[in-house]
Amino acid sequence: MATQKNIAIIGAGLSGLVLALSLHQQGIASQVYEVRDAPLDIGGAITLSPNALKILKKLGIYEPVLREGYQCEAFHFRTQDGQPFDDYEIGSVEKYGYPGLRIYRKVLIRELQAECRKKGIQVTFGKKFARILSESDTAVTWEFEDGTRGEADSLVGADGIHSRVRSYLHPGLEPDFMNVLAIGAAIPTSRVQLPHGWTFPVTIMSQCHGAYILAPNLSDGSELVIVKQRRIEEHDRAGWKKILDDKEGNIAFLREGAGAFPDVVSQAVEAITPDSVMIWPFYQVPKMDRWTSARGRVSILGDAAHAIPPSSGQGANQVFEDAYTFALMRARCQEATTLTSVLSKWQRGRQERIDRLIVLARQMNVRRLPESSNPGAEEVIGGEDFNMGWLLNPDLEKMVDEWLAM
Ligand SMILES: Cc1cc2nc3c(=O)[nH]c(=O)nc-3n(C[C@H](O)[C@H](O)[C@H](O)COP(=O)(O)OP(=O)(O)OC[C@H]3O[C@@H](n4cnc5c(N)ncnc54)[C@H](O)[C@@H]3O)c2cc1C
Repeated sequence: MATQKNIAIIGAGLSGLVLALSLHQQGIASQVYEVRDAPLDIGGAITLSPNALKILKKLGIYEPVLREGYQCEAFHFRTQDGQPFDDYEIGSVEKYGYPGLRIYRKVLIRELQAECRKKGIQVTFGKKFARILSESDTAVTWEFEDGTRGEADSLVGADGIHSRVRSYLHPGLEPDFMNVLAIGAAIPTSRVQLPHGWTFPVTIMSQCHGAYILAPNLSDGSELVIVKQRRIEEHDRAGWKKILDDKEGNIAFLREGAGAFPDVVSQAVEAITPDSVMIWPFYQVPKMDRWTSARGRVSILGDAAHAIPPSSGQGANQVFEDAYTFALMRARCQEATTLTSVLSKWQRGRQERIDRLIVLARQMNVRRLPESSNPGAEEVIGGEDFNMGWLLNPDLEKMVDEWLAM
């Protein structure tokens, strides 16, 4: 294994761990630093689509991950009285070679970490990145909150939506709150009667009561998560915690209006227990002109660079694409002098896909809220062609070659 380059990665979330494995595959050494004492256990289950599963396959952990998740091919949409009206493709074994996969984020992190251990990649917990100290044409130095320092050829901020590394590139830039909070809870699927002929996950839309998402988790589908979104003002960290702790209030919100939906919704909300309630405030990072410093030694990726609206179901999937293509680009960049140019091509290529996704996500968000909160919703729902091939089946190696040739 060649170790001529040495990259420090801040954050052992999905982007950090996928980056470490992708770099390793390209013969580039890295060390990962994570503020938490243990892997972050947030976010319930996420939906992976073929673009991400393909990357897991290349990294050699597709099969173990597949075993842990619930396989599905589309998000289905139904009206308030249960009539099907739309499908949103999230995978297809037949078309792309991979299904969509609902999997707990913590399980995915566990598998990625196990692979890092197997490959000898060092992940250090309890290390909070504080600031960049210096950057030259060949190296970067930084400081952790505990006062210790580090040095590497490059540093990548994979430190999430509230990224500290980003503040080196864009001081003062803050993520925008989208005024939407998702509230959800997991219940045993055995507590509901699944309507005959329905396929899951499903979003049930009502003009006046919003939308419920019902999505199975676990490989056998034995758990069902029920989610509803509400409009809300931004809160600080303590404020979000207070809302999360108000379990009864969240359950009451989930139950409100459930009677207007098919019975499966009422059965599901009745089965909720306070311990399974979770919330997810939707933030978005403003578009940035650069994800890499002028000397090319400090970059950001994943949610730190472009957290996109969750309604696309692509946040995690795009994080995988970022990390994998970053490693391919770095591996093809032999000369330090070409580093900034190569990474700016990488950003341009990635941003194009993100931009397209943001348009898609906006449309999806409108579809899940009542018309009263979304003037023009009808126009958007009727107007979009949800052909997902461009998104779900990219040839990432070819894409990188095209970016490099630009
Ligand atoms: C409830 C929920 C449901 C979701 N559902 C989906 C879905 O269905 N489909 C989908 O594609 N995406 C989904 N997402 C989005 C997806 O989880 C994110 O896009 C993805 O996790 C972002 O990964 P990341 O590694 O960039 O950031 P993060 O996951 O935020 O990881 C950042 C890591 O950096 C660490 N860190 C932060 N600051 C520092 C520091 N100063 N020093 C050291 N370490 C630091 C953090 O502790 C964390 O471990 C969901 C997210 C949530 C919360």
